[in-house]
Amino acid sequence: MRDEQCIFCKIANGEIPSKTIYEDEDFRVILDLEPAAKGHSLILPKNHYRNLLELPDETAANAIVLAKKLAIQMKDKLKCDGLNVVQNNEEVAGQTVFHFHMHLIPRYKDDNQKIDWEKSKPSQEELEAIKNEIIG
Ligand code: AMP
Ligand code: ZN
Repeated sequence: MRDEQCIFCKIANGEIPSKTIYEDEDFRVILDLEPAAKGHSLILPKNHYRNLLELPDETAANAIVLAKKLAIQMKDKLKCDGLNVVQNNEEVAGQTVFHFHMHLIPRYKDDNQKIDWEKSKPSQEELEAIKNEIIG
């Protein structure tokens, strides 16, 4: 379940060194090299999956439980005021490394970061049409 070309496979499996804050049989959690804020970390499964769409249910479930555990640890140790969990899928959505990962981004009152998007104002009819498109 490895991709020989994938840098996160190499990092997750310890072939390339990283600042590891957590490791078990299935996951490694590392500090991001270009953090949005102090403690910005990446949860990496040791097996290679391109992104959320390819992730087995069990790995997905374990990843969010791990995110929760680390969020509590970061709040305790780093004294962050909040935390974003970000997960990008495909280039259009900002994914740059095509090995599933979850960003854990501790947030501080004065960090001047923004994780945001332009808001739109669809009508109720437009929302209804979108709802039907998704569930239809
Ligand atoms: P994404 O844009 O969601 O694919 O996120 C990729 C993240 O991986 C970015 O935040 C990068 O800063 C980070 N990154 C890329 N290469 C490395 C590396 N070798 N070690 C740690 N973080 C990395
Ligand atoms: Zn990989």
